[in-house]
Amino acid sequence: MRRVDRALVSTPTVLVGNKSRGGKELSKAKVFFEAQAKAEAAAITAGAPAPTTKTRKKKEKTFDFSAYSDEAVKYALDKLFFGKCAYCESRYASQAPVDVEHYRPKGRIAGVANHPGYWWLAMLWDNLLPSCIDCNRRRWQDLPRFPESLAQLLAAPEMQGVKASLGKQDLFPIAGAARATAEFPSIDEQPDLINPCVDDPEEHLVFHIDRRAPLGLVLPTFKNNVPSRRGLTSIHVYGLNRLGLVQERTRILRQLDFLSRLIDEIGKISETLLASRDQENKTMGARLDLLINQILDEIRAMAEPDQPYSSLVKAWLKTLETN
Ligand SMILES: [Zn+2]
Repeated sequence: MRRVDRALVSTPTVLVGNKSRGGKELSKAKVFFEAQAKAEAAAITAGAPAPTTKTRKKKEKTFDFSAYSDEAVKYALDKLFFGKCAYCESRYASQAPVDVEHYRPKGRIAGVANHPGYWWLAMLWDNLLPSCIDCNRRRWQDLPRFPESLAQLLAAPEMQGVKASLGKQDLFPIAGAARATAEFPSIDEQPDLINPCVDDPEEHLVFHIDRRAPLGLVLPTFKNNVPSRRGLTSIHVYGLNRLGLVQERTRILRQLDFLSRLIDEIGKISETLLASRDQENKTMGARLDLLINQILDEIRAMAEPDQPYSSLVKAWLKTLETN
């Protein structure tokens, strides 16, 4: 995950102002959800059991949100995130249409009864993120089985380990009990999930980087031996260590290690040549140094914000610089 400055792309006009598509939808949603809340309160007063998300879903029609998926919104999110998933940094643009993700879920909150979801944020630009379907939809995913040798992990599909239900869907866990409602929208919630436009993911997530045995895992950061709660929850809920992602990151780590070995080898040869008295050798050495710089430029380009898994490459580069 990579920190993204939302100010770099302006809010799509379809979501700006009362008369926009988003503004009109918000007015309609207000009427709908206020009526729903009133009806529920009246039913409870009359002695009916409090509605749960399940009974509500069965009995009543749900509100049809659509402004968030306007083409202009998708375009703006594409631009802001360079066609990459906000959570796992894989490039969705080449494989599947984007899921416009509601950071705070719009229609229900999994595991939280008696909360209709953050419907008043459904058409708010700041609440929207682009997501690949694996991070956004809850489904059974393979997790790598640990500890296995890397070769086995990468090569054999039957080595795929345990399965787990991963993906954010309607989950929005928070620390503490203070959850915002339409009535009290500005309650200071403590989300357990990282929002790359609000938080600095590097404070909560760290890549496992081991030159001798590259394995593309992401781990929570630790402070005083305590793992970051937001990091841990995000890894689990977004499924950041699902097999496909770990394999893809491992592939990149291997590629980076190959390039760094190349740099080391070429560096040794160039040193010898540059130390030689022969002018031709010296010229050769200088040319090899140029080659090294080209390889380094290539690696730095892989860490640019528009590149998939750029935060991993950035972290790897840091270890290169400190060694
Ligand atoms: Zn993703």
